[in-house]
Amino acid sequence: RFSTATALEELIVPTVQISYTQNLIDGKFVDAASGKTFPTYDPRTGEVIAHVAEGDAEDINCAVSAARKAFDEGPWPKMTPYERSRILLRFADLVEKHSEELAALETWNNGKPHEQAAKSELPLLIRLFHYYAGWADKIHGLTVPADGPHHVQTLHEPIGVAGQIIPWNFPLIMFAWKVGPALACGNTIVLKTAEQTPLTALYVAKLFHEAGLPPGVLNVVSGYGPTAGAALASHMDVDKVAFTGSTDTGKIVLELAAKSNLKPVTLELGGKSPFIVCEDADVDKAVELAHFALFFNQGQCCCAGSRTFVHERVYDEFLEKAKARALRRVVGDPFKKGVEQGPQIDSQQFEKVLRYIRSGIESNATLECGGGRLGTRGYFIQPTVFSNVTDDMLIAKEEIFGPVQSILKFKDLDEVIRRANTTRYGLAAGVFTKNIDTANTLTRALRTGTVWINCFDVFDAAIPFGGYKMSGIGREKGIYSLHNYLQVKAVVTPLKNTAW
Ligand code: NAD
Repeated sequence: RFSTATALEELIVPTVQISYTQNLIDGKFVDAASGKTFPTYDPRTGEVIAHVAEGDAEDINCAVSAARKAFDEGPWPKMTPYERSRILLRFADLVEKHSEELAALETWNNGKPHEQAAKSELPLLIRLFHYYAGWADKIHGLTVPADGPHHVQTLHEPIGVAGQIIPWNFPLIMFAWKVGPALACGNTIVLKTAEQTPLTALYVAKLFHEAGLPPGVLNVVSGYGPTAGAALASHMDVDKVAFTGSTDTGKIVLELAAKSNLKPVTLELGGKSPFIVCEDADVDKAVELAHFALFFNQGQCCCAGSRTFVHERVYDEFLEKAKARALRRVVGDPFKKGVEQGPQIDSQQFEKVLRYIRSGIESNATLECGGGRLGTRGYFIQPTVFSNVTDDMLIAKEEIFGPVQSILKFKDLDEVIRRANTTRYGLAAGVFTKNIDTANTLTRALRTGTVWINCFDVFDAAIPFGGYKMSGIGREKGIYSLHNYLQVKAVVTPLKNTAW
């Protein structure tokens, strides 16, 4: 285990260059119309690593005009699906070629372990573009058996200009989930990155152009939410908005969309996902999976298993082992091999997580380990475990988005089902059991968009992801995501032409 001092004193210097900091509009890198820039940081130190063009309403306007023109005049929606598919595949090849720089840049700007970025997230991104390249030429309409002498068909057409707003916790993966299906269906895009992590999306958008994507099809604007993000959500020429982020911002985006041109909105929002350890569980395995479900990505996952429900029969053993596992967690410079946890994204999230930890202590949950900052610079937080957590505590109700595990005790299935569902969220759930009846009962009773049985955070391109209740509207990935980016046109033709 790294001691704080050795882990954080000598940081590894990233070898990658920051080449792209301007907005990418109509195939060209350009400064913000206002000439303004904003700093982006290394979360390991809080130091500025680059200044990035600060897009606002004017830049969004330019980007939407470019996307509009590329959609209305082509060539993108008019290209054959096969040609579009080839460009998506060429892009995936280029990402593979540049994987090393991209993983380094992702870690530098986000703080996630480099091994995670390189070995898991980059391959997922490549796989996702292969998956949607495969869909591009398989989008079929139907022939419809309507009453009467009519031939009726449906055409599945691209929806138009898609506005996409993404968060900072998985910058490249969020780019992929949004851009992959939208392009496969023939749409054009204006994507606004999170202000904390603008760098990798600009890099991959450049690769898309190298792969042959026509100018104006994919525009990337960096900037803040209330300025650039709001301008995109309320733009009259944007035909659809897809948003991932907090539930509070999701509501604003929905309202902006409704108040402008009533564009359809898909939302992927927060969560407070239960991870349920049943009485028959192999405790060692359950501890490891529950630990992963919560601490993965510094606890900054919308679907984090942030309410660890443990059956009373295995609770004491689980608790002791969960604490030991958290104490063994390797926290340090995310560029170092073997490091499991890097810093939180920024000072705001760092302070927020520490506030929740204080709230847990004040509400009389038992602090088993952790509970504070690690080191003296950057945004590192000790892996923290609370036991004796009850449903009414803030740490059991609100999304902490940090490395803080809350362990709750339960007695029987009916009780845990009721408690697991008593939340405004419904993104995901984890179930750990050997009993097929228990697994089936929980699978059907939990009101969440995903149930992982004896696994967690499995993010295959083909598996839909999204939330019940206030965790969102719609699904991303898989075949379901295509529906977000298609319009259905019914075409009705008389079988015998009697009109003239
Ligand atoms: P956020 O919702 O504020 O930001 C997400 C994106 O929305 C960013 O690109 C941001 O610039 C943009 N945005 C912000 N205000 C906007 C507005 N008025 N109009 C349009 N776009 C706007 O999230 P955050 O501040 O980065 O994080 C806050 C909390 O959100 C976190 O603590 C966490 O609970 C949650 N979160 C969830 C996810 C997820 O994947 N579901 C991801 C990141 C954060």
